[in-house]
Amino acid sequence: MPFLIFTDLDATLLNHDYTWSEAEPALDIIREKQIPLILNSSKTLAEMHGIAQMLGLTTPIIAENGGQIAIPSNSGSNISLEDAVQHPTLPYLVVTQTPTRADILSYAHQVRSEKGYLFSGFADWDIATLCQHTGLDAASAELAADRYVTEPILWEDSEENFTKFAIDLKSIGARAIRGGRFIHLMGLADKADGMDRVTALYQKQFPENNYQRIALGDSPNDEDMVNAADIAVIIPYGDEGHRISSNAPKVILATLTASAGWNESILSIINSNH
Ligand SMILES: [Mg+2]
Repeated sequence: MPFLIFTDLDATLLNHDYTWSEAEPALDIIREKQIPLILNSSKTLAEMHGIAQMLGLTTPIIAENGGQIAIPSNSGSNISLEDAVQHPTLPYLVVTQTPTRADILSYAHQVRSEKGYLFSGFADWDIATLCQHTGLDAASAELAADRYVTEPILWEDSEENFTKFAIDLKSIGARAIRGGRFIHLMGLADKADGMDRVTALYQKQFPENNYQRIALGDSPNDEDMVNAADIAVIIPYGDEGHRISSNAPKVILATLTASAGWNESILSIINSNH
């Protein structure tokens, strides 16, 4: 039974220091068996591009929480993406969901000046300010700022006005989701939508395959994705343990964190498939 593997990055495949060496045994088997590994993260495509390159991947990438699907321009994978356009700076064909970040910013800034809401976000900051707010170095901040679908903001106003702002955003099909440090302004797409769209690309290219989808994640924004999978892998988050659950047909609760848990789970799935 052919697999498609969809994985979150932070605290799932990647350790806190952005390494993944503990996952190498499972990554080797995936390469050997030519199982597509699809990265699915809230990170930008620019951030994910470097990671995909280091992993040697030529598979589609799902960036900005399902908002952007990208196919390497020279993937040789025969996966084609209708209505895709060339990314302005990266070697990918991309489809970007609407409302785009530009749509959201245009509207959010309009209501900010009309109604006096107090907030600031990535679009308001220069790179030095962005580094201060995110803790990233300048090079990483540049990649994180290369956004197309979502806008992280800091809310500097009352809860009452936040509720009003969230209602305003609904009028353009956008929403405001609380993350760790930032509130994310984004459209309705999520990681599960991204997974479905990429699955459809494979299914169209290989209609004879009855794919089994494996999805790995650790956080609330992975919950829809792991619920929609055939095999859900929940990676524990440090001392907090498993932060999400899944009603997928098969659920694996990894015992180890990050890349070690990723390795353990993928090996057990692939080895039990014989
Ligand atoms: Mg994560």
